[in-house]
Order: sequence, then structure tokens, then C-alpha cells
Amino acid sequence: MGKDELIANFKILRQIQQIDLELKDIQNQLNNVPVNITKWKTELENYKKEIADDKKEIEKLILEIKEKEIEVSSNQEALKKYNSQLYAVKTNKEYSSLLHEIDETKRKNSHIEDQILELMEKVDFKEKAAKEKAQKLSALQEEFEKKEREEKEREKFLNEEFAKKSKEKEEMAAGMDQSLLAKYQRISKSKDGLALVAITENSCSGCHMEIPPQTRNEVKLCSKTLTCERCGRILYCKESLD
Ligand SMILES: [Zn+2]
Repeated sequence: MGKDELIANFKILRQIQQIDLELKDIQNQLNNVPVNITKWKTELENYKKEIADDKKEIEKLILEIKEKEIEVSSNQEALKKYNSQLYAVKTNKEYSSLLHEIDETKRKNSHIEDQILELMEKVDFKEKAAKEKAQKLSALQEEFEKKEREEKEREKFLNEEFAKKSKEKEEMAAGMDQSLLAKYQRISKSKDGLALVAITENSCSGCHMEIPPQTRNEVKLCSKTLTCERCGRILYCKESLD
């Protein structure tokens, strides 16, 4: 390859590398689309689960209230029985023991009724919170659907961009020296997409090693393809290309 031809090839290769880097970025964004959607979906599912757990807890509290109400009414039945027995007792001892039972039962019931009130307050509080959460859920659901829709649209746009740029790259690649292209592709794979680098401040801009003056001059002359001794990337001189 002569000097002009090599310069022309480097110019194409520089554009191809730019496109490759853009393609890589697009691919990364595309890979993130399902990750993002799953993440949002999980957040929504977790919120739904929280609401379901709250509902279960409320149900549990209501059941507890019902059990305590049954206890109260069975104590009331017992009280009725004790009161009627008061008239039938024969001894003082029996009488006072019965009175003691009555007091005890009344005391128990009053305690249970306090507990019921406390539980009812709890239920009331939790129901209000649940109502607020349910309202928030529908907003979150809408937000999720909107974000998912937008993400899918973005995915479509990115796929189109990817196809467009790939085609552009293919056309460019067809118009250049194939063995230089193959070399570039080989290095690009092992160097994370950066195979063609400029010499800046006398150093390789890929690995920052100083390039010997002799090599620098040869690169500047564009007489052949030279690579960095340390990182193996193809070197070019900006001034010779622009
Ligand atoms: Zn290097």
C-alpha cells in the first residue's frame, strides 16, 4: 500500500472504529432493556405483596377481635348463671366464693373489652394505611406501564440505530483493504474495541507508552502499518490524516 492509500484506509478505519464503539454502546443499552423492565416489575410486585401481607394482617386482627367477642359473651353467660346461683346457695362460704367468681369474671371481661378496643383501633389505622397504599398502587401500576412502554420504544429505536450503523459500517468496510480490516478486527476483539490509536505527546494513546522517535517518524510518514510494541494496537498520526 502506498502512502495515500494507507492514509485513505486509516481514515476509513477510524470511522469504522467510531461506529464499532457506538454499536457497542447501543448493544449495552439494549442488554439493559429487559434488566430495567424486570427491576421495575419486581418493585411493583413487591409493593403488591406488601399490600397483600397488610390485608392478611388485618384479617388476622379481625379474627382475633371475633374470638375475644366470643369470650366476652361466654363470660356474660357465665355471669348470668352465677347471678341466678346466688339465690340458691346455702352457705356464706359458697356465697362469697360465688361473689368472688362474679368479680373475677367482670374484671376479665373488662380487660378483654379494653383489648378489643385496642385491636379495633389497630384495624382502623391499618385499614386507612391500606387504602392509601391501594391508591398509590394504581399510580405505580400506571407509572410502570408508561415506563415499560417508553423502554420498549427506546428498544425499537436502538435496534433501528444498530441496524443503520451496522449497514454503514459494512459499506465502509467493503471499500477498504481487507487484510488491514482483518488485523483491526483481531486487535479490536482483544483490546475492548480500541485497535487504532493516535500518537499523542509522543506516546501511544492506547497504553501511554512512549513511542521511539524512529517509529514516530515512520508513523508520521504513513509508509506502512505500525503497531505499538507494548499493547499491539495500530498506530496512526493525527496530523497525517487530517
Ligand atoms: Zn500501546
